[in-house]
Amino acid sequence: MSRVDPTLLHELKEYGAVGIEKCFNCGNCTAICPLASDEYPFPRSVIRRAQIGDKERMKSQLDPWLCYYCGDCSATCPKGAEPGETMMASRRWLTGQYDWTGLARKFYTSLAWELGSIILVGLLVVWIIAMFHGPLVTERVELNTFAPLHIVHLADWVMAGALVFFIATNVLRMYWLTMRRDGQKIPFKFYVTEAWQLVLHALTQKRWATCAADEKDEKTRNAKRTARTIHLLLVSGYGLMLVLIIFFLSWFQTDNIYPLWHPQRWLGYYATVVLLLGAGWALWGRVKKEVEMHRFSHPSDWIFPILLLVVTLTGILQHAFRYWDMPLATYYTYVVHLAFTAPMLILEVPFGKWAHLYYRPLAVYFQAVKEKAKAEQQVPEGALAAAD
Ligand code: SF4
Ligand code: SF4
Repeated sequence: MSRVDPTLLHELKEYGAVGIEKCFNCGNCTAICPLASDEYPFPRSVIRRAQIGDKERMKSQLDPWLCYYCGDCSATCPKGAEPGETMMASRRWLTGQYDWTGLARKFYTSLAWELGSIILVGLLVVWIIAMFHGPLVTERVELNTFAPLHIVHLADWVMAGALVFFIATNVLRMYWLTMRRDGQKIPFKFYVTEAWQLVLHALTQKRWATCAADEKDEKTRNAKRTARTIHLLLVSGYGLMLVLIIFFLSWFQTDNIYPLWHPQRWLGYYATVVLLLGAGWALWGRVKKEVEMHRFSHPSDWIFPILLLVVTLTGILQHAFRYWDMPLATYYTYVVHLAFTAPMLILEVPFGKWAHLYYRPLAVYFQAVKEKAKAEQQVPEGALAAAD
């Protein structure tokens, strides 16, 4: 039996929940939610667990990751309990629970910790470059002389190794908390047969399309579709830059001037445009607060797109200075670019807002695996819901 923890509600508020105490469990939000089901009756189920302080069930639930924050529930809640924001806060809280280092908890509950860590990593990058950079050629741009490719590549691989380590260990904790602790026996074969769901949802965010398709109001439906499209483009640009930097750096960071049609240029331009679009859309939406998903903003909702915007703009500047043959401006902008890129990758991907990129498709995958196992074991229908 789960122990009651009366501090849970307060904890969730630290992670951004607002109005959760106003909920009187009418169930309106779950009835309206296009993605809830009998097995996963969120957001009401999540709010109920928080209200009764059921921390163990909160940790083992997949429900918050199955929500795409369309905001329908918040718009129709008769008490103004903001259930959509509780789902968002629960995702942040779960990210903190999965992370064994404790950094995600610190970042989500303390602005000073998150900003301080970003500044520290940025300064560390500047110091490393100041200590180990190559000769400053000023007659022409020689970026690869200033920042020797083999050293930058080595640093990339060290960073990628650290990322894989932190992500993999946190994902293992997610697996342990959500798949192993509720006592359901899950045959290994279902992890294999359902693996396609992980790939599908990671690449397409297909459930978001379901959310939009069920929408009756045309304006809201278009807003949901726009949000999904921009997220997909953003992920494609971010993924492309990661692949180029980690696997093709010698091809991407070059002193050669290629013609416009060369793939090195248009792949870079594609990534730049979609990253600018994604960061700009997120920030402008949070300023305007016109759609439900942008009405409330946690500091982490600002920090990630701001970092992304600065990284993209400094990347554009560095590219322009190189093409305008301005050596010193190119080198200094490159340093600033790396000083923002490193914390954006090292801190935001495993411990910050970007973690939902892999936790959400994993949750959909785990949900499918659980359902297959349950169907095989013929667990009586509604048993899980009754357990709530
Ligand atoms: S969040 Fe609002 S709609 Fe949902 S159960 Fe509570 S009071 Fe009802
Ligand atoms: S925000 Fe949308 S998807 Fe999420 S719980 Fe509310 S209605 Fe469901």
